[in-house]
Amino acid sequence: MSKTVKLFDEVCQHARRTATLASINELLGWDERTMLPPGGAEHRADQSTLLAGMIHQRWIDEKFGERLEELSARLSEENGADAAVVVRRLKRQRDKKVKLPQSLVEELARTAILGQQAWQAAREKNDFPAFRPLLERTIELKRQQAEALGYPQCPYDALLDEFEPEELTANVGPVLEKLREELVPLVTAIGQSGRKPDCSILHRGYPVEVQDRFAREAAAAIGFDFKRGRLDVTAHPFCCTLGPGDCRITTRFYDDFFNAAFFGVLHEAGHGLYEQGLPVEQYGLPTGEAVSLGIHESQSRLWENLVGRSRAFWTHYYPLAQKHFPAALGDVAADDFFFAVCEVRPSLIRVEADEATYNLHILVRFELEQALLDGDLQAANLPGAWNEKYQQYLGLAPPNDSEGVLQDVHWSAGMIGYFPTYSLGNLYAAQFFNQAETDLGGLDEHFARGEFGPLLNWLRENIHRHGQRYTAAELVERVTGRGLSASPLVEHLRSKLGSLYEL
Ligand code: ZN
Repeated sequence: MSKTVKLFDEVCQHARRTATLASINELLGWDERTMLPPGGAEHRADQSTLLAGMIHQRWIDEKFGERLEELSARLSEENGADAAVVVRRLKRQRDKKVKLPQSLVEELARTAILGQQAWQAAREKNDFPAFRPLLERTIELKRQQAEALGYPQCPYDALLDEFEPEELTANVGPVLEKLREELVPLVTAIGQSGRKPDCSILHRGYPVEVQDRFAREAAAAIGFDFKRGRLDVTAHPFCCTLGPGDCRITTRFYDDFFNAAFFGVLHEAGHGLYEQGLPVEQYGLPTGEAVSLGIHESQSRLWENLVGRSRAFWTHYYPLAQKHFPAALGDVAADDFFFAVCEVRPSLIRVEADEATYNLHILVRFELEQALLDGDLQAANLPGAWNEKYQQYLGLAPPNDSEGVLQDVHWSAGMIGYFPTYSLGNLYAAQFFNQAETDLGGLDEHFARGEFGPLLNWLRENIHRHGQRYTAAELVERVTGRGLSASPLVEHLRSKLGSLYEL
């Protein structure tokens, strides 16, 4: 066996064992969010912290680092293809972990816990000033983190990189700005349109056990493999993978609201399809892992919105929905139901937003967190700046900070640079979907017949099977022939909403 092959085997074995250890922590996390009784929380935190420490130690292991160094000198992308990709990505991840001083890692972790506690209390009491000192501390620590990690152009790049590896603020910023310029007038026009859906039909009685059955049928129909995954109930839905062949998705049910569970399941199943489509034999290596949060979100948004909120989808599913929910939908016309599930209405709360205004909520956060990090905005002035942007982009002013700047957990938990990945997901989804339509043709006819296999196979072939072989920017360029762009999403929203709202 050549030295290179031997070294590569050792590196892979180390990485796979680290991934297995990390998957145990995922299992603990899944259990915590679905099953754990409150009395178990403290011990669970001890378990997770211990495992997180062990995982970190394996990453910064010196022998592992030396082998990666030597391998990266021996391999070049040309002659090693997959092996070179694995080594480059592992080395990149490890370098980032090594660059952060232990004291800063601990301080960030401690401040994240204190920050979330302070945020929760401040949100309940509508008391932003009580949260402010911890927010200021978090921003200061995130600046230190960016400096320690280094960045190509601006400190925000370093934070964005945590969620969207190798992406640049200078690439993302102008595209999101373009999206905002297009969406603000579109949303305003919708607000002024005389046409409004009757959304009360979505708030009739929807028995939970029937919702559960219907959502499972739809998830299975789009391709989620229940032999290699589960659906459970939680307060804040998520998807996580516990290993090859075990993908967990979650949802929540309201007996008087249709959308939350049904579209929530399509969304999480979209994440799950990506996880189930990653190459099993590459498990534990970058070539077996998702590219980025933005690409992950593109898969969930694609199934939730571009498929699940399409007329063709409901051509097939509405008669089934009426059969499942005769009392709620027996007297409702298909067009009225479709209009209701596609409603666009500016609101104050991000997590309840529709497919168009959602991006404006993200824009507010993306712009403000950059200003905070750059020092252009002081934390004390954040609530005012928040309210001003809501007025400007969504035409609404929050009546209080709990429904305004205090609504999200992210900043309190130190997650700065996370928000843009939601909108990147929407943008990538529209770009991929357009390309799939170009390549396959007739997606609407497929959906109207309840056929989703061709689209899923296309996603498997073009996106899932590559793992992290390409960065997000490389992938979108490779698949669609162009870089990140606002146009496909804007065109999709304009054409669909234009006809619904008769703009
Ligand atoms: Zn998601």
